[in-house]
Amino acid sequence: MKKIILAVGAHPDDIDISCAGTVAKTITEGGEAYYLVLTDGSKGSEDLTISTRELIRIRKAEQQKAADILGVKKVFFLDFVDGELENTASLRKHIVKIIRQIKPTTVICWDPTLYYDEHRNMVNHPDHRIGGEATMDCVYPFARNARTFPELMEEGLEPHIVEELLILNFQKANFFVDITQTVDKKIAAITCHQSQFENIEKFGERIKEMSKIMSQKAKPKLKYAEGFIKITLRKPG
Ligand SMILES: [Zn+2]
Repeated sequence: MKKIILAVGAHPDDIDISCAGTVAKTITEGGEAYYLVLTDGSKGSEDLTISTRELIRIRKAEQQKAADILGVKKVFFLDFVDGELENTASLRKHIVKIIRQIKPTTVICWDPTLYYDEHRNMVNHPDHRIGGEATMDCVYPFARNARTFPELMEEGLEPHIVEELLILNFQKANFFVDITQTVDKKIAAITCHQSQFENIEKFGERIKEMSKIMSQKAKPKLKYAEGFIKITLRKPG
């Protein structure tokens, strides 16, 4: 069966930074990939000379360009307000609808339990956690449950069982994807997000360093890798 990935990010650039190597590899191997960006990215600049409307437009265009480089079939933008994401029925219904439309075998999302990482000196963005939680809730149980959002059934959107959930958590990763052949494509995709980086070349180098660190956790070791916590979801019965 063809592998179909749905990668879910809170902001334009999240998916490219975290898993574009895996997305590119899947497409290269004959699979399909879709992006789902939950917010409008409207808080992602300290430059107050750019209007919010213009910032949203720029960030969407950057995300679309990056997805095009990788060969992503479609980018879904939900346009919830950046920084205000809540795990509501409205958000879950949007996500369930997209899962039932494209029928992914694999969904990639942020780890909703990741508040901070003391090893990397980082605090996670609340939109990442909340987006991860809502996505996970939709993968199980809501997208596969016929009684959830019955109006979607009326639209012909039948329940769908996602086989595999790949959760983004750098420290706890236990499943590694070899991105040696696609790391340069990943960097090319990230480079599209010009509004987000003062020194995009330096960030590209950083991505290679992170991919190397991740590759050392894999057995056998790889050259460049992306890592996830992998959950294989059982079919009922
Ligand atoms: Zn983000």
